[in-house]
Amino acid sequence: MTIAIYPGSFDPFTNGHLDIVKQGAEVFEKIIVAIAYNEKKQGFLSKDTRIKLISECVKEFKNVEVQAFDGLTVDFAKKCGASVLLRGLRNTVDFEYEVQMAQINMALYSDIKTVFLITKPENSCISSSGVREILHNNGDITNFVPLPVKKFLESNK
Ligand code: ADP
Repeated sequence: MTIAIYPGSFDPFTNGHLDIVKQGAEVFEKIIVAIAYNEKKQGFLSKDTRIKLISECVKEFKNVEVQAFDGLTVDFAKKCGASVLLRGLRNTVDFEYEVQMAQINMALYSDIKTVFLITKPENSCISSSGVREILHNNGDITNFVPLPVKKFLESNK
């Protein structure tokens, strides 16, 4: 069984992230959405809120789990028995950064393979930081995040 972890901050989880999970769930037997979380650096949403919201967004996929981790991604992958790091690509800017990350992870743990999936065109402009900025300025986030995330963010402004 090929287990893939999909690591990221997901702060918040967007339609772009969901797109990658959906595609990945068709490719891998099991996917663990792995929320990279640093206890010392509080993000926008708490760890527990991110776990709860992402779990709601992916509940239709029976082979997708959600967990949070602190530390190196490769260490978490080893702990989960994952052989694949799943990452999403929007454009060549992502590509430049992602190649470097994949090569670092490969140097740390030679058994790990990074697999990239390309987002749909309509999701390629979406980023968590963009969503935070729109929300901060009272804009409409409907087209950028799944419904459970929209509901939570709009009622907790
Ligand atoms: P990180 O902090 O590791 O960059 P993110 O939460 O921003 O975490 O992203 C996690 C992963 O999802 C990364 O591989 C990123 O490239 C990918 N990603 C982010 N936004 C999108 C999007 N709109 N479409 C597809 N993939 C995306």
